[in-house]
Amino acid sequence: MHKLDRYLQEIQKKMFYPVGAGKGVEQIPFEGKTLYTSQILKENVKKSIQKYLPKQTSAIIIKAIDNGKVVPVFLTKGIVDYIIKRKKFKSHSLGAAREGKAFIFIDRLYERFKLTSVNEKKLSDIVLHELMHVIDHIDTPAFFKINYSLFLVFWKVFFTKYLDLKGTISNKIFNHIIKDQFNLIIGKKRFFTFEEMYDPVFKALEKYSSLIPDREKTFELLYKDLIEFADKTYAERFVRIIPADIADAKNAAYVKITKGKTESFGQELWNPGEILSVVAEITPNHPNVIKTLKIL
Ligand SMILES: [Zn+2]
Repeated sequence: MHKLDRYLQEIQKKMFYPVGAGKGVEQIPFEGKTLYTSQILKENVKKSIQKYLPKQTSAIIIKAIDNGKVVPVFLTKGIVDYIIKRKKFKSHSLGAAREGKAFIFIDRLYERFKLTSVNEKKLSDIVLHELMHVIDHIDTPAFFKINYSLFLVFWKVFFTKYLDLKGTISNKIFNHIIKDQFNLIIGKKRFFTFEEMYDPVFKALEKYSSLIPDREKTFELLYKDLIEFADKTYAERFVRIIPADIADAKNAAYVKITKGKTESFGQELWNPGEILSVVAEITPNHPNVIKTLKIL
């Protein structure tokens, strides 16, 4: 039996999620690798999404799968391969955007959550979460245009809580973060240090902060904590517990936007798509989520 067939069959057995091994399997060239999809895989993903996501949201995703703009794929190997070849693979999430298409990597979802059979609810949530990440690369200007005011609200609530801000704070201060993150995605700038990204914001906010110097929690200490946390490598951040002050500020921002809380890892600090991904998980029919999906 061909290696691929055996692999697909193995997953099929483990996941109770038939991909139709050997039948109608389509190969997809991807950064020098070969990924695989099949009609059966697509139909199964569609079924899960239909069952677990609100109608408005699921209708857009299903249409996008039908017209080939969203492609659920299996990787040849799993998470170990991803970690070892991470640099080469250039993907920061469980999905990737290429040539206007959104690829969703299915077997990595399986490995990440150690599923013995597919948790369809989880799968649907992840597909939606990853789609938000991918869409910021498909049409970055449209993505930012739709979500610009949402990002401003997020950062304003975040920093108001984090630095105990008082008074009227201009939204303009937070433009800086959004602009830097935009330039990173479009590749206008290849690299920012987090000091570059956050220094101007902290400087502009200092006069509004009602933190009392010499107490346990100082402005300088909070600045240092935020930069240090953002500076960790991806793997380090993933296993590291998010500092409580950052987590509280982040939760306050999500409660403001969605009325719900989250256990995200703090990726919002460098990846604006994360804000929308988390909003989508808490409120899959949030107006911004629907508008963003329409970019597909
Ligand atoms: Zn994410």
